[in-house]
Amino acid sequence: MTAPSREDCAALDRRDPLARYRDHFLLPEGIRYLDGNSLGALPKAAPETLSTVLREEWGVGLIRSWTRAGWIAAPERLGDRLAPLIGAAPGEVVVTDSTSVNLFKLVVGALRLRPGRRLVLSEGGNFPTDLYVAQGAIEVLGRGHELRLVEAGEVEAALSDEVALVMLSHVDFKTAAVHDMAALTQAAHRAGALMLWDLAHSAGALKVELGRAGADLAVGCGYKFLNGGPGAPAFLFVAERLQAELEPVLTGWMGHARPFDFATDYAPAPGIRRHLCGTPPILSLAALEAALELWREVDLSQVRRKSIALGELFIGLVEARCRGLGFVLASPREGSARGSQVSFRHAQGYAITQALIARGVIGDFRTPDLLRFGFAPLYTRYVDLWDAVEALAEVMASGAWNKPEFRERAFVT
Ligand SMILES: *Cc1c(COP(=O)(O)O)cnc(C)c1O
Repeated sequence: MTAPSREDCAALDRRDPLARYRDHFLLPEGIRYLDGNSLGALPKAAPETLSTVLREEWGVGLIRSWTRAGWIAAPERLGDRLAPLIGAAPGEVVVTDSTSVNLFKLVVGALRLRPGRRLVLSEGGNFPTDLYVAQGAIEVLGRGHELRLVEAGEVEAALSDEVALVMLSHVDFKTAAVHDMAALTQAAHRAGALMLWDLAHSAGALKVELGRAGADLAVGCGYKFLNGGPGAPAFLFVAERLQAELEPVLTGWMGHARPFDFATDYAPAPGIRRHLCGTPPILSLAALEAALELWREVDLSQVRRKSIALGELFIGLVEARCRGLGFVLASPREGSARGSQVSFRHAQGYAITQALIARGVIGDFRTPDLLRFGFAPLYTRYVDLWDAVEALAEVMASGAWNKPEFRERAFVT
């Protein structure tokens, strides 16, 4: 089988029902950006929105803007805007804090709902912050809980009446392997455990159906496929049916039922708002809101279809054009089992990634040997993948990766 030509890829772009969204992003000329799974691109609307919030709402409105410009309602407003992207209902999502902080709140909250059970079950390959946060939460609670780590395929078998909480990333950050959300949620429930999903690599990339899966709790990032900007506020989901019993953990005044009563004693707000802690970061929320505005009309089935097609094209091109050069596919080959990225193992992965970046092909590297390429269906074109693999083949054929400056490990990889 011959690999698709650049013209074949351009034809795919012309037929792409999502093609028009690329024009809503500011992407630098000559860059093939394949890292939108780590930091989403800049929506054109964001600088203007931010400028309005800065000059008019802050500059002129000053403190009046908490009410007049709707600042105080932003965490819930953005939560409702985000909810359809993850299959949640209005009032089930709030945008606040970071993914790590939200994990802490939900892990502690969940363990309190299952007294007498001592295990938090996760997989060893979960994103490290999830594991670190669980370790810290267990330490703070001081009730002898244990974090039990198993392989991805062994979660169901590890369930028992000792498990209080199952905590998994829906899409694996290294390999993009996707868990069966509905099946694992049901299995956790059969064992009497609560289920927490980390949607960092899912929101904006896959059609997530938290409600249909019966999920209890979820968190996720605003700055990856959602394009909310570096360090954008994260989101937190609590299923409606659990909201009254799940106590807030970081009991700040913004989660109080009536913060402006300035009462001495804490009383949680009735809905999802109780999981807020401090004053919301309005500038960051404004950038994320501009990004979410774009998602309003996006058809997630088209996003998923394109994401799978991009992945298939990329795998095919690498395997055809870099055959015998030491690349081993680390992601599921089957599109439905894969998120919106493709990773290859290679012993020289770090240097090759750096050589690609020097040629304007931006992917990233994950230790020990993974080259990771993310596909953001709203702005990644099929020709971008062709150009990226062309650069990869050139870097390998010329030996250009083998330079000292490409071996120097930076702090951020
Ligand atoms: C990116 C990512 C995070 C990041 O958490 P922050 O608190 O935003 O730094 C957490 N979990 C997963 C699975 C991720 O991929």
